[in-house]
Amino acid sequence: MSKFWNEITKTIEPYIAGEQPKDKKYIKLNTNENPYPPSQKVLKAIKDAASSDLRLYPDPDSEKLRETVAGYYDLNRNQVFVGNGSDEVLALSFLTFFSSDEAIVYPDISYSFYPVYANLYGLRTRLSKLNEDFSINVEDFLSKNGGVIVPNPNAPTGKFLEVSAIKRILDYNSEKVVIIDEAYVDFGGESVVSLIKDYPNLLVVQTLSKSRSLAGMRVGLALGQEELIHGLNRIKNSFNSYTVDTIAQVAAVAAFEDEEYFKQCTKKIIKTRDNTVKNLTEIGFSIVPSKANFIFASHKEISAETLFIKLREKGILVRYFNKPKINNYLRITIGSEEEMDVFLEKVKEIIK
Ligand SMILES: *Cc1c(COP(=O)(O)O)cnc(C)c1O
Repeated sequence: MSKFWNEITKTIEPYIAGEQPKDKKYIKLNTNENPYPPSQKVLKAIKDAASSDLRLYPDPDSEKLRETVAGYYDLNRNQVFVGNGSDEVLALSFLTFFSSDEAIVYPDISYSFYPVYANLYGLRTRLSKLNEDFSINVEDFLSKNGGVIVPNPNAPTGKFLEVSAIKRILDYNSEKVVIIDEAYVDFGGESVVSLIKDYPNLLVVQTLSKSRSLAGMRVGLALGQEELIHGLNRIKNSFNSYTVDTIAQVAAVAAFEDEEYFKQCTKKIIKTRDNTVKNLTEIGFSIVPSKANFIFASHKEISAETLFIKLREKGILVRYFNKPKINNYLRITIGSEEEMDVFLEKVKEIIK
């Protein structure tokens, strides 16, 4: 605490990112990073971009990247916004579309950055309680609100909400912006990008951090009708014109162009996820059905906290949330086949 801090700085509770410890080499299953490296084409593009041109500012409008993403999703480039990771895109979206007049709605168990943004901007919030099985209670989103945000698949549960349910939410909230955070949609879910043409209130947010192995590069997207994207640009350009650097723009373009590598990696992760679920179920875990690159798991005898601590001692990091309703669950990122073999071996040692 410092006398120089303003009221917001004194009272805000910042987001706590998953740890990236340097004390020894861990198997990292705690931040939903991709176990596979970025595409070779991405790495080559980055090397080529590391040139004397870096003395110049990047393209403030990321034209080439927006063009590439638009082509990929069959949109036009004025329906695409890019930012420095989807966390930044979300932060700008909250600032652009939500106000303190009416409470925004999101699930009580979801991405823990949402309440941080809401507090930062002085927004009111209403939390929708997940059902017992961690499914989203759609009815809670069908009453007056100041806007909606839903991660799909949800984090940290991995549970996917059907497109028909999202349509109901969009239909009811035609006067408010509905943000669907699709950070994990490439691991078996279904994107609602195709609904953009029918819903002026829909904003789809995606990231290159998970399915495209570029967490270190920081690129996120928002997709929606031009009016929404125009609004985002007004706020972004009132804040920082150059949010996406030259190298990140080039890397992101190359990542979207290498569709084959992307498909290969996501397919492998889905297969490893299914094997992991099977193996863990056999040794007494119950696991929420997941369409993400992580699973949410609870053991019938050993507490999640004990498992978390013991796994850490054995060099494996997973995510544990000490919060009501989920404090007996671990969120386990799906690593490579080899990493998950080691993980399984260590888990077996612990529960023996
Ligand atoms: C990881 C994640 C993000 C943020 O990703 P960036 O790395 O900032 O692009 C956003 N939403 C959810 C639900 C996430 O899990």
